[in-house]
Amino acid sequence: MKRLKDSFDRTINYMRISITDRCNLRCIYCMPAEGLIPIEHKEILSYEEILRILRVAVNLGLRKIRITGGEPLVRKNVTYLIASIKKIAGIEDLSLTTNGVLLEQFAEGLINAGIDRVNISLDSLRPDRYREITRGGDIDTVLNGIEAAERAGLSPIKINMVPIRRLNDDEIEEFAKITMKAPYQVRFIEFMPFGTDTWSQDKFISADEIKSIVENIGPLTPVNMKKSGPARYFKFDGAVGVIGFISPLSNHFCMECNRLRLTADGKLRPCLFSETEIDLKPALRSGAPDEEIERLIKLSIEAKPEGHTIPQDTHFRKQIKNKKVYRRPMSKIGG
Ligand code: SAM
Ligand code: SF4
Repeated sequence: MKRLKDSFDRTINYMRISITDRCNLRCIYCMPAEGLIPIEHKEILSYEEILRILRVAVNLGLRKIRITGGEPLVRKNVTYLIASIKKIAGIEDLSLTTNGVLLEQFAEGLINAGIDRVNISLDSLRPDRYREITRGGDIDTVLNGIEAAERAGLSPIKINMVPIRRLNDDEIEEFAKITMKAPYQVRFIEFMPFGTDTWSQDKFISADEIKSIVENIGPLTPVNMKKSGPARYFKFDGAVGVIGFISPLSNHFCMECNRLRLTADGKLRPCLFSETEIDLKPALRSGAPDEEIERLIKLSIEAKPEGHTIPQDTHFRKQIKNKKVYRRPMSKIGG
């Protein structure tokens, strides 16, 4: 089996693909209130272009794919893309991250198309607060979506929550308690400084602090999970679900990083926290052979930095102070 190694001997076998920068929500930690200027349709990669990149990348050793966005379920014919990816020999794991708003409508179709798993983002269980965080979302649509996903057999259901101080941190325990009765993976993800000026150090809650809040409920036992990725998993005694903590800032997992990101407009991004991007579109649209796509994929792997040093980085601190954060918000990178 082919393996693609980067300059630091990490095997790169995972790609997150943002298929659209558009979204049916406008979460306050992800997008500015006025929304974002959408990428022009002609600049967005077609499904055929995405599939071509994937065929080349699978030949190089890619095995795992996550479809994300923006909100991936708002792009037309998303199930066609999923079914087509599933047919590429060599893909071992195909998942999708969604805000869940359209999941009730799509759960069956996703299963039929061959999706392995979905991650659902949910940052509050309170209707008013959910509406405030998402700037207008209706929590019932997401809860119905989660139920539909479970009925359709999409398991395990992963729920991702981003705790933000004074916004939703008083719900951390409530989210953790879900795992007592439901076989879900509830994962807490540190708030990251992307694209909007919402982030500040005082709103940031480290994974260690989140874990200590969860431990107010009861002791946690570590759980060894296959394919755990960057999450550290734990469980309450007698619980049917598990709790994950993901700490991209406080305790980054760069040495285990196995991923590349492909933006909706065709840029390969070697690291979430680096502005380096390698544009595949000119090659795709000028009739370049697969060898050229292959060369660009290898180039982006070579460009993977060893790691980021964000909490210690003085340049970054200055940026935060000046309210300048990463140019691309998560909705345009693909979280
Ligand atoms: N729209 C889909 C969703 O919300 O799940 C997929 C795209 S969204 C950009 C992917 C993930 O990025 C979500 O789980 C969201 O919570 C997370 N995200 C967005 N902005 C973030 C930030 N500033 N810090 C941490 N996570 C963030
Ligand atoms: Fe949309 Fe997801 Fe960003 Fe929320 S986090 S605005 S749902 S892309």
